[in-house]
Amino acid sequence: MLDMKWVRAHAEEVQAAADGKKIKVDIAVLLQRDDERKVLLQQTEESRRQRNTLSAEIGKLMQSGEREQAEKMRAQVKQLNEQLEQEEAKLAVIQEEVTRLQWLLPNIVSPDTPVGLSDEDNVELRRVGELPVFDYEARDHVELGEMHELIDIPRGVKIGGTRSYVLKGAGLLLHRAVQQLALDLLLKQGFTPLEVPLMVREDTLVNTGFFPTGRDQVYELQGENKWLVGTSEVPLVSYYADEVIDVKEPVKLAAISTCFRSEVGSGGRDVRGLYRVHQFAKVEQVILCAPDAAESERMLQEITGHAEELLQRLELPYRVVAVCTGDMSQKTYKQYDIETWMPSREAYGETHSSSNLHDFQARRSNIRCRDEEGKLVYCHTLNNTAVASPRILIPLLENHQQADGSIYIPEALRPYMGGAERLILP
Ligand code: AMP
Repeated sequence: MLDMKWVRAHAEEVQAAADGKKIKVDIAVLLQRDDERKVLLQQTEESRRQRNTLSAEIGKLMQSGEREQAEKMRAQVKQLNEQLEQEEAKLAVIQEEVTRLQWLLPNIVSPDTPVGLSDEDNVELRRVGELPVFDYEARDHVELGEMHELIDIPRGVKIGGTRSYVLKGAGLLLHRAVQQLALDLLLKQGFTPLEVPLMVREDTLVNTGFFPTGRDQVYELQGENKWLVGTSEVPLVSYYADEVIDVKEPVKLAAISTCFRSEVGSGGRDVRGLYRVHQFAKVEQVILCAPDAAESERMLQEITGHAEELLQRLELPYRVVAVCTGDMSQKTYKQYDIETWMPSREAYGETHSSSNLHDFQARRSNIRCRDEEGKLVYCHTLNNTAVASPRILIPLLENHQQADGSIYIPEALRPYMGGAERLILP
């Protein structure tokens, strides 16, 4: 969590970040409670010191046979113990409140982050690729998926309830092909691939900044004191928790994982098709680097570039937007979203989210490195989607559909699809 000394010195900035990110926390109240906590702590320590001194005195008096004096002191010790108990109880309550408020503190945002209330205020930075023009009645991915027997939503819902699906045949192959292509691109960029736990302990979610604010987004395993991750960012960042690492070269980690999301709060939104589901697969990039603003900014551009390369290899039109304060999560310092053109939505839809967290996660997760003077400092962490599927199948199927109902397979995917150049209607 943010260091209280730092919070005091940057109270206005932290309050502005909380307001911008719509996080309800009053820094003035936190600082006041923290002052009260410090006074109580001093009182408690003083009472404990007095009690210990008296107890030692009693011991000496007993040894020298001054029993009467010792008895008097015993009464004083008893009173001090009662006082101490009350002070400790009060201290525990206030300490808990300070800690609760501290966990809510947001990361500050970069000076170039646009100020805004929601995703409507995100700022487009660039558009890449041509939008398709259909001179026939274009179909959406659900219809294309049914025609080609790639996607079976009714049976998915029969098995798993709402926001469930089944991918089959070439649908599954495409789902795996985009993931393998993404992983292969990351391997070329020097990423180390990891298979990681997806059922994780609560502290990993707190320390990576997903709890307490996003608690309702994550599925809890009843009776296990464990949660199913919504992204492998959690285990990838936690991999180095409580360690001192060498970041002379940035540490680059990747994972392919299933992600589970409750999607509480999105009831009624994106209910058709594969856009918003409870379970999906994601190839994730995580970078840990030296806590140098220029270095982590470079890394942000780099991981954003990897996602753009993937979309270019998939021959899909996309745009990059700078995410505004109101659309950012608690943990983020700077964020770009990449949105890919989805013809059925007649809009770009988010497919990638690229974030620089500065030292926010590393502080909470206690991931440190040494600076040039050998002093221990907290690292910077970053993450971005490399690909998330089945959402990416929406633009893939819809943009690459042909008038005859077939679906063009981009060259980059063909090696993973048995060389096929098209999906032909069965
Ligand atoms: P996030 O980890 O929330 O930044 O999401 C990263 C990417 O995962 C998004 O850009 C989407 O491509 C994908 N994604 C997130 N949530 C869902 C969902 N409920 N259903 C399908 N794909 C999702």
